[in-house]
Amino acid sequence: MAPWQHRPMPGGGVVGQKCETCYGEGRVPTDEGLVLCPDCGGAGQLPHHDTLVEWRLREIERVHGSSGGEAAQDIEWLAFELRRAREALRELLALTDEIAENETRLRMRFLASRTLGLYEIVPVRAGDRQE
Ligand SMILES: [Zn+2]
Repeated sequence: MAPWQHRPMPGGGVVGQKCETCYGEGRVPTDEGLVLCPDCGGAGQLPHHDTLVEWRLREIERVHGSSGGEAAQDIEWLAFELRRAREALRELLALTDEIAENETRLRMRFLASRTLGLYEIVPVRAGDRQE
């Protein structure tokens, strides 16, 4: 299992995060020599969180969704609902561009961005605050 498959998704997979499989080198050693890292495609950095969620979803569908049984139907339904919910959050985030700057807009943007994993959340130190 690749690291992005078992890493907790919230807060993980931030853009530019160093790939743990190849230690940021982009290549991994095999019996045939160095090959492109399967997790980052040779970039050395993990792709966007949104991409990681989609990759994992596809992997779950591939592994568990092809049996044709009741569990496969449940997974298909869950994947559909997850994609629909994330798409709705992206649309809501885009809609916040059309409303005036206020605290509610700020909170909406923060909630949607945090859930989608769009930005790394860094605590603000007292001295860094701009008033
Ligand atoms: Zn890698």
